[in-house]
Amino acid sequence: MIPGSFAYHRPKSVREAVTLLADLGEDARPLAGGHSLVPLMKLRLAAPEHLIDLAAIGDLRSIRTEGGDVVIGAMTTEHEVIGSDLLASRLPILRETALQIADPQVRYVGTLGGNVANGDPGNDMPAVMMCLGADYVLVGKSGERRVPARAFYKGAYLTVLKPGEILTAIRIPAPPVGHGSAYEKLKRKIGDYATAAAAVVLTMQGGKVATCAIGLTNVAATPLYAEEASKILVGSTLDAATVKRAVAAAEAITSPASDRRGTPNYRTKMAGVMFSRALARAKSRAA
Ligand SMILES: Cc1cc2nc3c(=O)[nH]c(=O)nc-3n(C[C@H](O)[C@H](O)[C@H](O)COP(=O)(O)OP(=O)(O)OC[C@H]3O[C@@H](n4cnc5c(N)ncnc54)[C@H](O)[C@@H]3O)c2cc1C
Repeated sequence: MIPGSFAYHRPKSVREAVTLLADLGEDARPLAGGHSLVPLMKLRLAAPEHLIDLAAIGDLRSIRTEGGDVVIGAMTTEHEVIGSDLLASRLPILRETALQIADPQVRYVGTLGGNVANGDPGNDMPAVMMCLGADYVLVGKSGERRVPARAFYKGAYLTVLKPGEILTAIRIPAPPVGHGSAYEKLKRKIGDYATAAAAVVLTMQGGKVATCAIGLTNVAATPLYAEEASKILVGSTLDAATVKRAVAAAEAITSPASDRRGTPNYRTKMAGVMFSRALARAKSRAA
C-alpha cells in the first residue's frame, strides 16, 4: 500500500509541464487529482519515477464558451462540473453523470481531464463525451492537436495520447436546441464503478427521432459509441419493435470482462437495460 519513490514536480504553465514531460521521458506521468493514479501506484501497478502535478496551472481550471463550443479545462474537478450553472443549462448530462461518479470526497479532487485521459473502461465520462461529439485538446512540446473522443480510446488504459502530451481541455459542440439526454448507471453500491451504464443524447422532430447518439460504459476494454443502434433509431417514433432492434445492436458490440460485477452475459444484458432506460428518459426530456 506504499508507492515506490518518485520525484515530484509542480510546473506553473502548460509549456513548463510539456517540457518537463519531454525531458524526463517515459518515466514521467502527469498527475491530476490522483484518485486513479495514486491507487495504482500504491498497488505497484504503476511506478512512475517523476510525477508532473498539473494542479498549479490555473489555465487548466475553467468552464467557458468559445464560439459555439463549451470548453472545459482538464483540471476542472468533478465537483465543479456538478456546480456549474453554465453546464446545467447547456449540457445537463454532465452534471447527471458526475453525480454518479464515486462519492463527494472523490469528486472534490478527481478531475474531468483525469477521468477522460485515464483510459479505464470503468470511467463514466468518456462514453458521455463520445455521445456529445467532444474533441480533446492535446498539447505536446511540438504543438497542439485535437482528437475526437470517438477516436481517442484504443484499449484498456491505452489511448492515442503520445508520451509527452497532456490533455488541456475538452471542447463540446453545442447540442441542438431542445435535445434530451440521460445517463443511466447500474452499480452495486454508492461509490462503485458501473456494472454497465449508457448515455443517450437525442432530438425529436414531429414525434420522430431526428438525431441520436449512444455511448456505453464498462462493457468492453474501451468506452463504446453505439453507432449502428443510433442509426436504427433515427426516423423512428421509438416504437417497441425498433427500440428492441436498437438494444440488440447495442448489446452486439459489447464484450465485457467477467468480474465481481457479473458475468459477461449479465453485463451485456444490463447494458441493454441501461440503454433502454436512458433512451426513454432522454425522450421525455427532449422538447
Ligand atoms: C473510491 C473511488 C471510486 C471511484 N469511482 C468512480 C466511478 O464510479 N466512475 C468514474 O468515472 N471514476 C471513478 N473513480 C475515479 C475518479 O473519478 C478519478 O478521479 C478519475 O478517474 C481520474 O481523475 P484524476 O483527476 O484523479 O486523475 P489522476 O488519477 O491524477 O490521473 C489518472 C490518469 O490520467 C492521466 N492524466 C490525468 N490528467 C491528465 C491530463 N490532463 N493529461 C494527460 N494525462 C492525464 C494520469 O497520468 C493518469 O495516468 C473513483 C475513484 C475512487 C478513488
